[in-house]
Amino acid sequence: MPGIPANTGKPNERKFNFWERIYLPEALKGLGYSFRKMTKEPMYTFQYPEEQWYPPDNYRGRPVLVEEDGRPRCVSCNLCARACPPMAISMQSHEIDGPKEREPEWFEINMLRCIYCGFCEEVCPEEAIVMSKEYDLTFQSRDEAIFGLERLLMPAERLRDRLDYLEAQRNRQPGQHWEFQPVNNTHSLRNRSFLKWLAAHDVEALEAETAAPSA
Ligand code: SF4
Ligand code: SF4
Repeated sequence: MPGIPANTGKPNERKFNFWERIYLPEALKGLGYSFRKMTKEPMYTFQYPEEQWYPPDNYRGRPVLVEEDGRPRCVSCNLCARACPPMAISMQSHEIDGPKEREPEWFEINMLRCIYCGFCEEVCPEEAIVMSKEYDLTFQSRDEAIFGLERLLMPAERLRDRLDYLEAQRNRQPGQHWEFQPVNNTHSLRNRSFLKWLAAHDVEALEAETAAPSA
């Protein structure tokens, strides 16, 4: 009949005795178990935020951009944005003077979209975007959750643990030693040749030569 639940009890189900029916011994057993855990087991909880958790080096916190000598390592190649599954990354590159030639004019990660998968870190050819240890993010609006360069850039010294971890753990191709090399962060053939030429010459002597008044 509608409204009355069907009795699904099997006829051969075990009958509870008196103590089982009043539940009191079972409740006391449960309390005893909790008390044993409280006194004998180590404490797994933190009094957050007074006590902070410091994650291990393999932890994937929010992605950040590596900053070196006050500039982003990023060369604005767009690979991380293409690899990002929820399309959380967007950027615009601009040309700059210097061997690197390109840098992000603006770079944004929508932290409401980010799923902390680490694909951006995986594909970046410059080791310019890495997963930090920061896990406690708060925003008061959707706009605040879009992090720009001012919130994404983090000095390489603060990311040393993660950079060292990546160097030690990344899958290398046979015979290759994978490591970020500043010289690789030079993307112009013209400037590579120029740097090689510069290294092969005595720069001080060249400077003295150009500074000397012509006869
Ligand atoms: S961690 Fe994953 S989701 Fe987040 S920005 Fe990187 S690729 Fe996108
Ligand atoms: S993959 Fe690396 S270098 Fe390329 S845009 Fe992303 S952070 Fe910059």
